[in-house]
Amino acid sequence: MRILIANDDGYLAPGLAALVHACQGLGEIAVFAPEQNASGTSNALTLGRPLNIFTARGEHVQGFHVVNGTPSDSVHVALTGVLGYKPDLVLSGINNGANMGDDTLYSGTVAAAMEGFLFGVPAIAFSQAEKGWGELEAAAATARAVVEQVLAQAPLGGEPWLLNVNIPNRADAMTLPRLITRLGRRHASEPVILQTSPRGEPIYWIGPAGDAREAGEGTDFHAVAQGCVSITPLQVDLTDHAARGTWATRLACRLA
Ligand code: MN
Repeated sequence: MRILIANDDGYLAPGLAALVHACQGLGEIAVFAPEQNASGTSNALTLGRPLNIFTARGEHVQGFHVVNGTPSDSVHVALTGVLGYKPDLVLSGINNGANMGDDTLYSGTVAAAMEGFLFGVPAIAFSQAEKGWGELEAAAATARAVVEQVLAQAPLGGEPWLLNVNIPNRADAMTLPRLITRLGRRHASEPVILQTSPRGEPIYWIGPAGDAREAGEGTDFHAVAQGCVSITPLQVDLTDHAARGTWATRLACRLA
């Protein structure tokens, strides 16, 4: 088996090294990751300039392919020629912080996995529920266990699938129940933060993500709050199928 591993926190992030290390022995591993932290870049591709790739040297990052672009760039260039073959599985993470509910729309971690999925490769995105890399080794061991469990039950090479996994920062993460969940919803983000630059100009920081709004039973938020590993199967079709009829009536259009 050949596995492509990416992330969005950048190639130096501890979560990437931990995931790569934990997956040793599962198959042949290639790592393509952004040079810099590219969290929150969603599915962005860099189209206005060329990309450079260098091979990292050093402990924990030896042989990683480093792309001066986004998470999606990293997987995209790998899959469209640089890697030279189609991997059997794409893994992304482990992210520094949760990717639950609306986070998945902004997440570069999810996007890197999604890029594999869009190219027909099964993919899993992994995130730790809290920032700070607490209990990272336990999360990495859990990620490997999830990969092994998934591979034992879901055949590779058929229809691709996309899973979003959030792991509580706990030393006993390996033994926590794993729940199949749906995405919850967050409140709108906190307000933008206004500061003054050293040159006296107004500058603005995007505010933190909102708290969970729809976090009831069955959601990823609920599962993690209950001390479970959340596994959400994702799809990419953004069509609001249920609303098509309503819009056809409103606009006096024929349903295609
Ligand atoms: Mn990130």
